[in-house]
Amino acid sequence: MNHKLFVTNLMILCFVIHFFAGKAITGELTGTASAGNELKLHKKTVYTMGSLMDISIYEKDDEKVNRVIEMAFDEVKRLDKLMSNYKRDSELSRINMEAVNGYTACDSELLDLIEQSIQYSRKTNGAFDITVYPLVNLWGFYGNSVGKITGYMPNESELQAILPAVSYKNIKILHIVSTDSKEGSLSFKNKKTQIDLGAIGKGYAVDKVVEVFRNEGIKSALVNFSGNIYALGVPPERESWAIGLKDPFDAGNDVMGSFKIRDKAVATSGDYERFFVRDNIKYSHIIDPRTGRPVSGMLSVTIVCETATMADALSTGVFVLGHEKGIELIERLDGVEGIIIFENRESKISIKISTGFKDILEINKTEGRWTIFDVE
Ligand code: AMP
Ligand code: MG
Repeated sequence: MNHKLFVTNLMILCFVIHFFAGKAITGELTGTASAGNELKLHKKTVYTMGSLMDISIYEKDDEKVNRVIEMAFDEVKRLDKLMSNYKRDSELSRINMEAVNGYTACDSELLDLIEQSIQYSRKTNGAFDITVYPLVNLWGFYGNSVGKITGYMPNESELQAILPAVSYKNIKILHIVSTDSKEGSLSFKNKKTQIDLGAIGKGYAVDKVVEVFRNEGIKSALVNFSGNIYALGVPPERESWAIGLKDPFDAGNDVMGSFKIRDKAVATSGDYERFFVRDNIKYSHIIDPRTGRPVSGMLSVTIVCETATMADALSTGVFVLGHEKGIELIERLDGVEGIIIFENRESKISIKISTGFKDILEINKTEGRWTIFDVE
């Protein structure tokens, strides 16, 4: 059963992550120098891969910042050409077309990301699965020509016809033993299998942007690509970046809590990002590959860990696993913490916070309607 629309409305307000560092919240870090070292805050937003990427960098050399930001955006454009399934001429689109007919050579970086994705499928017991593409398409989540999601309600036989195509086990990989051992080909066992990297690609792009920053000597930066975040180093004269959790009941910028991180990634998967509504029931874009249906009852999952790629994959995987198996997985994995917001049996909003997260999360609002949350 999909949860009701009123919950949805709640969630749209609910768990938007944003930064204390942002001018909109505190006005603290507004491009002024920190005493002595002339570090300035540079902020830039671009629209890429169908989403906004916000970059904040502390650096004294303006020219260096311009150059590095240009390099970062070139890197994202390069990745988009590799792994977009919106661009018909991307490497992934070619693979999706050709791998149904047998082995086809695959770009080594793309192959590596596909192999990482398969590892996350194994870790999440198949909840995270990049072969979900035919289902995402069937339910109409890719949107029409102007990107609007109109949605489609498939019947059981339509779902059953597609389900055998949806399994990471349908991806066969052949490594070519040569001087460059990373080279390889792949093929799909099922004629309808197709890959969608939408649940891991933005996180990967964030890691690659951070790699550019590190290589170019940037010491302090924050990247936010549509909820996939990396906090590099620390802002001047601070020990960490503060990430705020928005108060779900406040229409403004009030935050219900915050946590501090450095050299760590954060990702959030939410049911409010892409969805459609039928008969007052909300159908959202994260699909359970085992049933072929959009996940219901889960509102949002936030993961904090070492890399943005991992955070992205796990936030989607945990969303599908649900709060019980999801929190178990988070607790089991070293260096991974998380917050799960879901609807309990009485349709009340509940929160589960992993043990390690409880140490870093400061809930600064215990009054008011937040009391409906059970912090377990
Ligand atoms: P995210 O926002 O990172 O959770 O990614 C959600 C996107 O990943 C969706 O819009 C789909 O394109 C794709 N997706 C949906 N369900 C799954 C799943 N179970 N495993 C992997 N990717 C998925
Ligand atoms: Mg994801």
